Amino acid sequence: MLNLLIRSKLPLKQNILHRLILFPLAVAWLAVAATTAVAPADSARFLNDVKTLSAPDMEGRGAGTKGIARAANLIVKRYEELKIAPAGTHGYLQPFTVITGARLKSDNRFTVSSGNTKKDLKTNLEFVPFSFSQSGEAAGEVVFAGYGITAAEYQYDDYANLDVKDKIVVALRYEPTSFATKSGNQGLTHHSQLITKAINARNHGARALVLVNGKLGDGEEDLLTRFGSVNGPQNIGIICVQVKNEVAQTWLQAAGKSLTEVQNQINSTTKPASFALPEDLHLSLNVDIETTHATVNNVLAYLPGQSDEYVIVGAHYDHLGRGNVDSLAPSQIGQIHPGADDNASGTAGVLELARLLATERGQLKRGILFMNFAGEELGLLGSADWVKEPTRPLDKAITMINMDMIGRIKDDKVYVGGVGTGSTFKQILEQAQKDQPQDSQFKIEASAGGYSSSDHTSFVSKKIPVLFFFSGLHADYHKPSDTWDKINAPSAAKLLDLIADVTLQLASAGEPPAFQTVVEARPTTGGERGYGPYFGSIPDFGETTNGLKFADVKPGSPAAKAGLKAGDILIQFGDKPIKNIYDFTDALRRSKVGDVVEVKVLRDGQPITASVKLEQRK
Ligand SMILES: [Zn+2]
Repeated sequence: MLNLLIRSKLPLKQNILHRLILFPLAVAWLAVAATTAVAPADSARFLNDVKTLSAPDMEGRGAGTKGIARAANLIVKRYEELKIAPAGTHGYLQPFTVITGARLKSDNRFTVSSGNTKKDLKTNLEFVPFSFSQSGEAAGEVVFAGYGITAAEYQYDDYANLDVKDKIVVALRYEPTSFATKSGNQGLTHHSQLITKAINARNHGARALVLVNGKLGDGEEDLLTRFGSVNGPQNIGIICVQVKNEVAQTWLQAAGKSLTEVQNQINSTTKPASFALPEDLHLSLNVDIETTHATVNNVLAYLPGQSDEYVIVGAHYDHLGRGNVDSLAPSQIGQIHPGADDNASGTAGVLELARLLATERGQLKRGILFMNFAGEELGLLGSADWVKEPTRPLDKAITMINMDMIGRIKDDKVYVGGVGTGSTFKQILEQAQKDQPQDSQFKIEASAGGYSSSDHTSFVSKKIPVLFFFSGLHADYHKPSDTWDKINAPSAAKLLDLIADVTLQLASAGEPPAFQTVVEARPTTGGERGYGPYFGSIPDFGETTNGLKFADVKPGSPAAKAGLKAGDILIQFGDKPIKNIYDFTDALRRSKVGDVVEVKVLRDGQPITASVKLEQRK
């Protein structure tokens, strides 16, 4: 499951949990023709696959590891054994390239000159670039800009009456202490985020941003942020580094100031205390970052039916490797994140369904396309790649069934998303429940909408009905503790029986389900503050264009009302340029409900402007 905490500030999965509609279970017997049944799923086999896929040699199935290639091989082998035909571009595989991260190259320099002294700072010891920094050179005059924050809602602006154009801005991390009370004591506000500060400095015309930790807690050391540990875009559009407090302190000293005193003053008054540093202080820095890539593979296999229509049964098999920025156990980055539930469970589910359904070869009205996606954790990239370059005709796909985290069923509770996207889904699910033995009944909590933080989202935007099976979030999510021994295999096997039933009904039905657009309740903020007003676009994570491409626009949303469409590339939001989702999130947060914002999008390469009236999230 994709961690959208940073990417959109919307842990959509939490959202599902918050806006579930209880599915009516006590339904009258429906006169739906019984379809062929297959043998029941084997929970021991399922658990064994989960165990194998989450074993140490799979290396957390991180992009670019040997482990993920091993996992792909295992899946390929299984389809070969079952004699289910390859459906990729290279046999069973569909390769594509992903960005795995960034690394510091050799030429990172930071020179401080003052009068006739000159000093080179040591990389990783005295200064370190942030992985989202622009690469390149910056040199010039230096300005101290407090916390580097512009917070209109708190009438606080470190950049007020400060000329930073083409200069190097030095600023403190975090935020004035009074922001906590102003924001209702819910922890740090988004203004404290590194990305927010970088965007703010860039939008004020600064050439570079140099951050320092400032005041430390009791017993705290002045540590530099580990390179690569902060989520962000490839290039935020400004050079951005951190230096040690003691380094910045010597600069402030030259202006007769002290870092501690200035910080104390800002904190006690909540008034900015920005100033230009003496002109003879000259900083010159060079940042040299390389983006790292890896080729990963979707694994695709096809079980033919009697027509060219087909049902997709899919799950992602990649995970976080040794913990990337999406790890929810940052102190354990470097340890294998085995991803037993996320999503060895869904992968083992697809493999088990392939084994059960293989016996139906050529007998079903429709075929079944088994899909194992890579790149999901990096932004639904595998599914996005497939819908962009489908290996079977998209218009013949009648439903996409996605399993992402089905291994932690508790008290027979299962979440099913997308139920409103197919005209027959409710009925099919009810029938499938009825077909199961009394002791295998689930408490299904269904939600109508098909957008959430897993691969089925890529198919909804192509107007393919989707069903998403999910057993719920838990404390081990995205941590090294997501291990196979915590998997509830007996319940997962029962769920696979239900999903097999659903698949068979869909593969045999007279008419395929009609795609239905779900006008979703406006997304809640999922407990997140400061996400800003409601806009209504679905970002296309697969795109790295200069701007933010919309995979879709939610029906009835402010964006839809303004005429924005799927495929539009947002390049301007009010007076703010938009280069990526971070810029967009920042601009949105700086807006208010009711604001009418002039936005500029590129549609088929042509710029179009539209006025979007921002609404309240509910
Ligand atoms: Zn995940």
